[in-house]
Amino acid sequence: IKLDKHCYDIIIGSNLIAQAASYIKHSLNQKGSQTRLAVVTDKNVAHLHLIKLQEELTKNEIHFVPIVVEAGEQSKSFATLQTVIDKILAARLERGDCVIAFGGGVIGDLGGFAASIIRRGMNFIQMPTTLLAQIDSSVGGKTGINSQYGKNLIGAFYQPQCVIADTSVLDTLPSREFRAGYAEMVKYGLINQPDFFEWLEKNGQEVFSNGPIRTEAIVRSCQFKADIVARDEYERGERALLNLGHTFGHMLETATAYDSSRLIHGEGVAIGIVLAHQFSAQLNLTDPTITKRVETHLKAMGLPTQLKDIPGKLPDAKTLLTFIAQDKKVSQNSLTFILTRGIGQSFIAKNISPEAILTFLEQKIAEI
Ligand code: NAD
Ligand code: ZN
Repeated sequence: IKLDKHCYDIIIGSNLIAQAASYIKHSLNQKGSQTRLAVVTDKNVAHLHLIKLQEELTKNEIHFVPIVVEAGEQSKSFATLQTVIDKILAARLERGDCVIAFGGGVIGDLGGFAASIIRRGMNFIQMPTTLLAQIDSSVGGKTGINSQYGKNLIGAFYQPQCVIADTSVLDTLPSREFRAGYAEMVKYGLINQPDFFEWLEKNGQEVFSNGPIRTEAIVRSCQFKADIVARDEYERGERALLNLGHTFGHMLETATAYDSSRLIHGEGVAIGIVLAHQFSAQLNLTDPTITKRVETHLKAMGLPTQLKDIPGKLPDAKTLLTFIAQDKKVSQNSLTFILTRGIGQSFIAKNISPEAILTFLEQKIAEI
């Protein structure tokens, strides 16, 4: 990934944990036993994969402090951030030492944000272990935690020294989490790469097993995200395209947050993508056959695509709209929304009126 002030590698491949020490030392430009690390991870990843990383670091005489937090979104909090910071400071790690985020997007966001503020910025390496983290959250430098006012409202743009994505760790990922990450991959095709979407229609099933197709899909996704981020690191323009499906997706995540059958992020995004295509069709920008094609693929990959696929009861359209209004994309009385003119023809639409969305949501709820 080539940014104005900083370039770094995204290393993708099978069994990379077994070679992590040399990648870490190389990217930090360090030799011998000079390297000192804090490995931030969650309980699930620690249980499944930390031993292998520990063995590799110990064998290479790298000093490290493991910091294990609870798994799940609730760890993107001030309380957990404080615990992580205290452990890093108690271990007397310096600015030139390195925080490794070894886990999914939660750990990447939390660990990266901690690295960005401790001693005004420690070295930082991402070792993503979910599909979503490998193709999305570990690339691009957004880090942060949640607030009672909304998700990701406290954070920093903080780029890592490198990203090490071991595709074999995905074998232990629950299939529901894998599918959720896959929805973001489909999103990349639908933004502006119709060839990639078509390729996924043919090869999608094979992405689910470890092998060259999975690796290719991850490489193509990272390449795509890296290119967008390189052109617009601070989301002043085109990076917003990455929000395709996310306005409706976040709305549904919020709506189901306290339900036992809550949607996970990528599931919200899958339904959100279909809704964004339907909304575009209603505005006569595209036609319903395009929506059908998108929906057919997401469904074939085991993802929910319609409001009626959500097990719990949804609130009414007015309440749903308030969840969109809480989202940061609203300014005054208009919304910025990602719409589409066809497969891989998404664009940023400004000035979408909340009334138009309300009418659309009322219709969709009536169809359930
Ligand atoms: P997550 O980190 O909560 O991981 C999902 C679940 O999988 C957790 O229970 C975790 O313990 C488990 N897990 C992780 N790796 C595993 C493995 N290899 N085997 C078995 N289980 C494993 O969630 P996520 O979906 O990776 O990330 C979601 C988070 O990412 C959200 O907080 C979201 O806001 C953030 N995000 C950030 C960006 C960004 O640009 N920074 C982009 C997209 C999403
Ligand atoms: Zn997302």
